Order: sequence, then C-alpha cells, then structure tokens
Amino acid sequence: MTTCPNCKSDCVQLRHKGRKAASTVGGLAGAVGGIASAMSGLQSGPSYGPNGGTLGAMLGALAGVLVGGIVGGGVGSALGGKAGDALDEGLFDQYECTSCGRTFTP
Ligand SMILES: [Zn+2]
Repeated sequence: MTTCPNCKSDCVQLRHKGRKAASTVGGLAGAVGGIASAMSGLQSGPSYGPNGGTLGAMLGALAGVLVGGIVGGGVGSALGGKAGDALDEGLFDQYECTSCGRTFTP
C-alpha cells in the first residue's frame, strides 16, 4: 500500500498528469493531421473522374474531413496516452495525497 511521505495517509491517488496532457495534445495533433490529409485529398479529388460532379466531390471531401478528424483524433489520443504513461513513469510525480495535497513518487 502506498502512503504519503508527508502525513503518512494512505489516501493517495494516481495523477496521470503526463498521460492526460499527452493524450490531449496527441488527439489535437491527430485531428489536425487527419483533416489536413483529407484536405489534400480534396485538392486531388476532382481528377478522379470527369463526370464525378462537384457535389459528389464536396460530399466526399466533407466526409473525409470528418472521418479524418475523428479517426486522427482517436489514434493521436491513444498514441499520446501511451507516450504520457512513459512520461508519468519517468518525469512526473505519480501520486497525489488527498489529505495534504503533496505529490510524490514512491
Ligand atoms: Zn499527505
């Protein structure tokens, strides 16, 4: 059982500070990357077929942006979370005492 080094309380909780931060950053980066790749697909999209139609190209691009943003955000968030776990283990204090507020690594 992990206890607080300051007040000896066992009311401690994991912080996951690095994981949360990295997950947020990763999600944003992934969403931006997904949308950017969908936008580049939009620019080359109309060349797929002469009779494809502008509406079809626009709908396809819109779907691409949505899917790219959602999928990219999800993948980026998951990858960021993994990277954040490593940060949590190496850089940040892992535990926080809920009695006195002190953070520490056992
Ligand atoms: Zn404490």
